[in-house]
Amino acid sequence: MHEQRGERQRLRTTDRFGECQTVPVHELALLSSVVKAVENACSAAGSSEVKVVALRVGALSGAMPAALDWAWPLAVAGSVAEGAELVLEEVPAAVWCPACDTEREIDAFYTWQCPGCGQPTADLVRGREFLVSYVELEVPDHL
Ligand SMILES: [Zn+2]
Repeated sequence: MHEQRGERQRLRTTDRFGECQTVPVHELALLSSVVKAVENACSAAGSSEVKVVALRVGALSGAMPAALDWAWPLAVAGSVAEGAELVLEEVPAAVWCPACDTEREIDAFYTWQCPGCGQPTADLVRGREFLVSYVELEVPDHL
């Protein structure tokens, strides 16, 4: 993503997330909120061990999957989710085209027009999600 912003941005992004030389702060902050939600779910279920956390990540959510993967162990360290597997469900961005009367996935450049007929549309139907999709917990038998 972000290819349209030119060479300088692209190289900098690769440096940050490809080589992971610095902490992806944005993704870490997002994951900290996820960990809090998972901790709440755990205490509600009487569990103290999380096996899997699955996130639904839209292409326009502002979170980069590679950075999320990388930041995950940092975000969960010392929490009930420490050691849990992170599953990322990537959601492509899509707009509603009134001319075609259907939903169309938009391309990686996120041009706000229907890829089928070229009609401009700002009606985004998905792609901004950043949600916990599901969590798998270890729940003790005696509860
Ligand atoms: Zn169309």
